Amino acid sequence: MPQPWDYIAKVVNIGDSGCGKSSLTIRLCEGRFNPQHDVTIGVEFGSRIIPVSAEKKIKLQVWDTAGQESFRAITKSYFRGATGALLVYDITRRETFEHVQEWLDELRAAADQNISIILVGNKCDLAEADPGKRKVTVEEAREWAEAHGLKAAVETSAKTGESVEEAFVDCAKEIYKNIVGGVYDLNDKSHGIKANTAKTSIGIDDQAKPPKGGCC
Ligand code: GDP
Ligand code: MG
Repeated sequence: MPQPWDYIAKVVNIGDSGCGKSSLTIRLCEGRFNPQHDVTIGVEFGSRIIPVSAEKKIKLQVWDTAGQESFRAITKSYFRGATGALLVYDITRRETFEHVQEWLDELRAAADQNISIILVGNKCDLAEADPGKRKVTVEEAREWAEAHGLKAAVETSAKTGESVEEAFVDCAKEIYKNIVGGVYDLNDKSHGIKANTAKTSIGIDDQAKPPKGGCC
């Protein structure tokens, strides 16, 4: 019987409050959208298994800030061991894009140097409905991402689901590239990545085994 996943990796969502970090996590892990901005409902983490090659799957464990995302309030332990990150801004609020630099600096200071970071411009549905709402162009986001060594820049809508999977898949594939390239020491627990060491998925009481029923 094939294993449900081969690797598990920690991915953190960062960016200003209200950009849609929780909504992206809920969309990926539960396939739904909640129009209310209620920080108390914010998930702390969810997970989703992503195929990264014909045979291999990575279980992404997505960490969400649950509403304490002012710059200094996010503790180093949130970033520690993160193998991937979604750096999220809201394409309808220019200031959230202007802050991605600060978020990136925080992240690079605290996380592993090999972290795979994807720039995510969320709420693209709003600009599709009314182009006047767009305050950040696709081109400038791409240029910024490239200039700062980020792996990709994607525009998403947690509301419609557009490209949400793509953003997380891009991140998972970058992580897998690093695994294949031998970048991580999979025995070192300080990396937020582990291989599934269970020989089969039945009959072994493996602590790392995902909970029954899949997702979050
Ligand atoms: P967070 O503070 O970054 O976790 O942001 P939330 O996920 O709580 O979202 C903030 C608000 O924006 C909520 O009212 C969401 O319903 C709304 N929202 C999130 N993503 C989208 C999106 O893609 N499109 C639209 N139109 N609204 C969104
Ligand atoms: Mg949130």
